[in-house]
Amino acid sequence: MNILFATAEVSPVAKTGGLGDVCGALPKALRALGHDIIVVMPYHRQAKEWFQRNGVELERVAHVPMVWDHWSADLTVLRTVLPGTDIPLICAANDALFDRDGIYAARAGGPDDSIERFAWFNRAVIRSCEIIGFSAEIIHAHDWHTALLPAYLDSGLRRSESFRFARAVYTIHNMNYQGVAAASKFDFFGLHSRYWAPDALEHFGDVNLMKGGILLADQVTTVSPNYAREVRTPEHGAGLDGVVRHIGDRFSGILNGIDTGEWNPATDEHLPANFEPGKMHGKTICKRMLAKELGLKYKAKTPLIGIVSRLVEQKGFQLVLPVLSDILRAGAQMIVLGHGDAYYEEKLEELAAVHGDALRVMIGFDNALAHRIYAGCDLLLMPSMYEPCGLNQMYALHYGTVPVVRMTGGLVDTVVPFDGTNRETATGFGFANAASGDLYTATWIAMLNFKDSRLWKTLQANGMALDFSWDRSARRYEEVYRRAHE
Ligand code: ADP
Repeated sequence: MNILFATAEVSPVAKTGGLGDVCGALPKALRALGHDIIVVMPYHRQAKEWFQRNGVELERVAHVPMVWDHWSADLTVLRTVLPGTDIPLICAANDALFDRDGIYAARAGGPDDSIERFAWFNRAVIRSCEIIGFSAEIIHAHDWHTALLPAYLDSGLRRSESFRFARAVYTIHNMNYQGVAAASKFDFFGLHSRYWAPDALEHFGDVNLMKGGILLADQVTTVSPNYAREVRTPEHGAGLDGVVRHIGDRFSGILNGIDTGEWNPATDEHLPANFEPGKMHGKTICKRMLAKELGLKYKAKTPLIGIVSRLVEQKGFQLVLPVLSDILRAGAQMIVLGHGDAYYEEKLEELAAVHGDALRVMIGFDNALAHRIYAGCDLLLMPSMYEPCGLNQMYALHYGTVPVVRMTGGLVDTVVPFDGTNRETATGFGFANAASGDLYTATWIAMLNFKDSRLWKTLQANGMALDFSWDRSARRYEEVYRRAHE
């Protein structure tokens, strides 16, 4: 099939989280199954810098004006390939809109114009496709940023040669970011007024792009089976639970995979030493070198706990902060890598100043360091309030680092908590209630079990033996694409 991927993030070119990882890896797995695929992303400053750093010259395919009802903004179509593949990667460039510090940043000092610039990007995806002459059988849109594509397809886009045979598939990577805006923004999309309705883009008087994506796509997916169940409930549906219930079996959950080309402890170039099941000495070196790199004393028998995360409420930092000192006092060392809410950044740095001998906090985004943390730590803490899939715990499992997680969303699908009786299958530790005390208890139990080196080796081996490669999930997406054409 001819598949068009439209996304705000593509790893390693520009990413803030799991969306980028998925859109960098899934196209490769689909290509391996024999599909023709192109990926279109905005030409973010982060992307520009990545190409410059890596000496990649993009081909300038076209420069065209784009004019519609209320706006005009030029589009420059740039072409390269997804790194390490033959998959065309199209960058839709307009510097006024995307040459910014952050992928989702407003213009410095300016108002939040994210709805406008991503609406432009949706149109740019369509124009780019027409310009390069790609005939899409599937438009695969991701999250609210590209949620207008199903609406555009529904509203007559099939008259365009590039989209004559197209069907829309929409994937929700996080139900809590919906692209909500004031009703006045609707005019900006250039859509017929029939799309300003509760069965399209209107939601209680506001524009809701994700709602439109869900209702107008032929098939809708999210990134784990358990999250697909959860978002059908008012507790997790973020106001759109009724909408996903409404579409019935057009909605399904497919577990994300991991890119084992980038994430493989046996070959990972970011690590000081490599390791694999049965040959774990390299992991000890990784722990020692990580401690050294960050100025912590190396202690073989002390559990080293890692966190790699956006510092936001979703990831459970309000649960971590009250008990972090207790966890350290109970005999752990800890490393936190993340950035996000200023409040959490400050609080974590305050704690790091108090616990200089046991805690390191690195504020920022550092992919290479993230690799070394997954490899060098004994435990990974991931107490998410909700978690659509979660990739960190999968990287940790793959690198022999035992996760301690809150049992929610995709964490339920990927971590088997040790309960004292299931050492044949257990891969981590879990807790259910979103309470600091329960997080502390689960971490403390994990630390206690860390002392039992035979059990620990079994837990590590169980996790490392799991198959999180994309191949199986890519076949599930194939099925979804087929269903979209039925
Ligand atoms: P989400 O998409 O909600 O942030 P996921 O677990 O799906 O969470 O994906 C997170 C991805 O982002 C992982 O690849 C993780 O390693 C990466 N990541 C998150 N924060 C950082 C950071 N500060 N530095 C480097 N990588 C990070």
